[in-house]
Amino acid sequence: MLQDVLQIRMAMVCCYAVRMGGAVYLIDTGFVGGENAIERALDQDGWRDLPVKGILLTHGHLDHTLNVVALASHHGAWVAAPEADRVLLEGDFSVTGLGCVGGMMQQAGATMLNYKKPTGINWFYNKTSCEFPAGIEAVPLPGHTDGHTGFLFGRYLFCGDLFASFGAYSHRSPGIFNHHGEQAEESLLKVADMDIDGILPCHCDKASPETHLERLRRMA
Ligand SMILES: [Zn+2]
Repeated sequence: MLQDVLQIRMAMVCCYAVRMGGAVYLIDTGFVGGENAIERALDQDGWRDLPVKGILLTHGHLDHTLNVVALASHHGAWVAAPEADRVLLEGDFSVTGLGCVGGMMQQAGATMLNYKKPTGINWFYNKTSCEFPAGIEAVPLPGHTDGHTGFLFGRYLFCGDLFASFGAYSHRSPGIFNHHGEQAEESLLKVADMDIDGILPCHCDKASPETHLERLRRMA
């Protein structure tokens, strides 16, 4: 993994911590067990003394947002999230079309796991509507959800659920979890064409960001 990035793995999903300008930023907050996994990962030399300043959410699905309230309040961190996913963040996962199946699963999960909706979010509409710290750029990648967004740090893109990267089993996000399949495909092709060095998905094996990008380009 890159020197200033921690990949924090837990059941079903992973999230990331990035070290930049004397602070730590979290990209998503993971799912069940995520809060402990994140705190454990940050409790190491070179990380534990840095403040966690901000939490960037790629989208409003439960396996990325379950721990956002606990982590934001523990660290006094701001939270930035795509405005187009506001209903999801507020705990309404109902979706039309094929995505309604995944929506119902998340609705049940939210109740079972006592999902707490965050308040005081910095909503962003596009790449310029929110003041991200220098060095972070939002890249709208709609389709998986309306607001699904990647975050570009230098030449590396945290790409959320753009696809799942597992060697020969790499695949597009399943239709039941996508809000708009065609749009998701456009976003995937857009990233495949970007002039970057690597990508960091949230559903993946431990391959390097460069390898994940190769897999995506092959898929595209
Ligand atoms: Zn998702």
